Amino acid sequence: METAKKECTQHGLVVSCIDKRLTDDVINFVTGEFDMQDCFYQFMLAGCALGADVNHEWDKSLFDHIGIVLELLHGDKKKLDRIILIEHRDCGAYKKYLGKYGNFDQHNPAEQERELVTHTQYVLKLADKIELWCKSQQLHYIPVISCFLMGLDPKENPRQILR
Ligand SMILES: [Zn+2]
Repeated sequence: METAKKECTQHGLVVSCIDKRLTDDVINFVTGEFDMQDCFYQFMLAGCALGADVNHEWDKSLFDHIGIVLELLHGDKKKLDRIILIEHRDCGAYKKYLGKYGNFDQHNPAEQERELVTHTQYVLKLADKIELWCKSQQLHYIPVISCFLMGLDPKENPRQILR
């Protein structure tokens, strides 16, 4: 017998990298941290915020999808309560697009700090852009936008990037 799905207390959109090492970790983190099992939409692009920054078409796709999510939820008399941007360490797209500058030694604390700073720069830029876009859509609310940097070890808590 199928158990009835619980009502969602909030709805979200998760934007993350396509990296295969983290697909389950992303879902586990979001369902645990935000209590949003079966209550969030997902959009993935290589490099997450950096991917959107360097590829115009990907950026357009992302915003098209945010628009679709809003349409679906609003059609259902719901809101998009939050947008969660999840960057991750040792990202292949950062190496591809930033070269040496995007390659971070995972065993060197100074490099890990540089990695955090680099991801912060791109993810905050995207968060601001999403917020501005939401304002331009004349919603009667603005989704909460949260940003994280996830480690490869699922035991390591994703680090929240404050904005
Ligand atoms: Zn990645």
